[in-house]
Amino acid sequence: MNGKAGEDGRNGFSGVDEPAGRNKSAARAFSKLKKATVRSLPIPKKVDLPTYVKDIVGDIKPWDERDILFARTDLFYYFGSDSPEYKAYYEAHPEYLEYDTRVNNLPGLGKTGGVDTPMFDAQFDVIAKIASESFVDGEIAPHKTEITSERIVRKVKALARLFGADLVGIGPLRREWVYSHVGRSFGNSEGFQKWGEPIDLIHNTSAIVIGIQMDYNLIQSAPDFPELLATAKGYATGAWISIQLAQYIRMLGFSARAHHLYNYRVLAVPVAVDCGLGELSRAGFLITREFGPALRLVVVTTDMPMVHDPPVDIGVQSFCESCKICAENCPVGAIPVGEKVEFNGMRKWKLDEQKCFRYWHAAGTDCGLCMVSCPWTKPMNWFHKCMSLLATVKGPHQSLMVKADKLFYGKFKGVPRPDFIDPFES
Ligand code: SF4
Ligand code: SF4
Repeated sequence: MNGKAGEDGRNGFSGVDEPAGRNKSAARAFSKLKKATVRSLPIPKKVDLPTYVKDIVGDIKPWDERDILFARTDLFYYFGSDSPEYKAYYEAHPEYLEYDTRVNNLPGLGKTGGVDTPMFDAQFDVIAKIASESFVDGEIAPHKTEITSERIVRKVKALARLFGADLVGIGPLRREWVYSHVGRSFGNSEGFQKWGEPIDLIHNTSAIVIGIQMDYNLIQSAPDFPELLATAKGYATGAWISIQLAQYIRMLGFSARAHHLYNYRVLAVPVAVDCGLGELSRAGFLITREFGPALRLVVVTTDMPMVHDPPVDIGVQSFCESCKICAENCPVGAIPVGEKVEFNGMRKWKLDEQKCFRYWHAAGTDCGLCMVSCPWTKPMNWFHKCMSLLATVKGPHQSLMVKADKLFYGKFKGVPRPDFIDPFES
């Protein structure tokens, strides 16, 4: 199904989808025709600045991780409502108290897994075990290896792919995308930075972003439990890749810190845009040409000198303007259908995270309906490769493509659970 993308993002275009049951010469001719068609299509534009830059209208203040929904849930779950941290936080942020109290008393993710809930829990438990500082960071070898920045980029990208990455990009680490304070610490568990501690990544000047494709078949069951398994698998794979890659870089004598679920110190989505993986979208997620939004991201930040990839313009801004499929498929209206609005120094399509997060608790999964219904999330066969390349060109054909997608696929309907997962009985 989905071939892995090469370093230029075009890998996976050869030798696929051979027509079965035809004679060899007809098959060869058909294959040549398909390759020629793909070659004749435009390739995504590399640009000097990320496409979000034109939407910057003021100062972007770094996010405090304590304010994100997951950190607020952790505050209730790990510290407890009697703790000084909890009391101090809601004294400073009374606007969140009512919503958080309601949501925190709902059952959490995984509840609809039934007897198969451990398939999800096992992955998240292991991710938590490898999220402490001793895994994501560590000692740096005393001598710096002498190597050119071009050569090390080749090695780093190849190694990340060997470890299981589907996409790798390298770019600058902008200070705006570094959290200001620690918000997730498992209740100040041993081995984790303390809740509220200021974050200092000042020496890390570059970021390596790794994308892990989500299992295409499992996400077709969204918003049901199999989709959550695909999420967990993406994060678990990403966690191992990031900690091994960071360890490798430290062994070369440079600082390197892994950022994966439970221990991000950066906002992975805009960092991924800076690293040339894709663009911001209406639904708030990263859209890549290869897998659309159906991927998970982990990051390694480092002071190792590296050549950066240019950001890309793959046509997402104009595509999202005419397409509102994600918003139409969202069961709670969390995705805006209107224009971008100003928020923290940027014009953006502003997702209502609170509505979304509450629905996650109701569904018992991270939903994924917007992701799976997005026209960019398609299996990478020959037809969709052509379509994804055409979609990268700004023009009136983009709205025709949206119409065709709606006509052909209609409103997203989830498929039943695969047979290795039991039905849920409440
Ligand atoms: S994950 Fe579900 S609830 Fe959240 S924005 Fe997407 S469709 Fe809406
Ligand atoms: S569904 Fe359409 S509007 Fe939503 S993110 Fe995807 S392309 Fe953009």
